[in-house]
Amino acid sequence: MPEGPEIRRLADALEKQIAGSVIDSIRFGLEPLKQWEQRLIGARIKKIESHGKAMVIRLDNGLNIYSHNQLYGRWFFCNTDDYPDSKRQLRLAIDCQGKSALLYSASDISVLNNEELLLHPFLRKLGPDVLDSSTTAEQVVERLRSKKYKNRQLGGVLTDQSFVAGLGNYLRCEILFYCGLHAKVRSRELNEKKLRLLARTILALPRQSYKTAGITNQLTHANKLMKQGVTFEDARFYVFRRQGLACYRCGTIIEKNSQAGQVCFYCPLCQSLV
Ligand SMILES: [Zn+2]
Repeated sequence: MPEGPEIRRLADALEKQIAGSVIDSIRFGLEPLKQWEQRLIGARIKKIESHGKAMVIRLDNGLNIYSHNQLYGRWFFCNTDDYPDSKRQLRLAIDCQGKSALLYSASDISVLNNEELLLHPFLRKLGPDVLDSSTTAEQVVERLRSKKYKNRQLGGVLTDQSFVAGLGNYLRCEILFYCGLHAKVRSRELNEKKLRLLARTILALPRQSYKTAGITNQLTHANKLMKQGVTFEDARFYVFRRQGLACYRCGTIIEKNSQAGQVCFYCPLCQSLV
């Protein structure tokens, strides 16, 4: 499942494809949404926002198209006269001045005015977005210290979108490794230095991943590995999907186990229970 950085990059690509343009034609694949088609034609696309793993297309007529890709949704960009041959279900097609943006397979799509958008059940419960430059480490420290989160295991807190928005499983594993923390640790057990390191890393790794199209490993090291012929997929992470391989820091074999319903990859030596 794409996480915050991947959705933000997708929003950037969608913005490049259609933002600033007027909608010539729009089609929804889901029956209840078809009633909107006529009202959206002629609207100008103002901008594309990502909120955690959701995307919002803002229009100049006060309406917004909300979508959440979940596991299966896929965006595809092409020229209007060159739609791909796909067996996937086309759920949203937007044509603007010869360019098109197509969303396949997603089922969580809605058209909402600005007020309804603020009340959307998914958006309303989101914590501060890790990719939003106005989100600060200080804010994250406060949340880590708060009653709501300090007694819960970090493995579960980090991917809780109400804590912060945008972290999924790969970012969770990488952040915990970077900070030398086991997934079972609770933030109330951390000293001030560790707490601050964790808060900074919760913002820094997703932001690096956004800029580098998915690298959370130390950049100089990842680049060195790739120069040596290691593939991007094998060089990009510290621990994620590296079970059975040696830890880059200490040489111990990376392990995996299940934590808060998802597979967690970790170094048994570098990541301690405080
Ligand atoms: Zn290690």
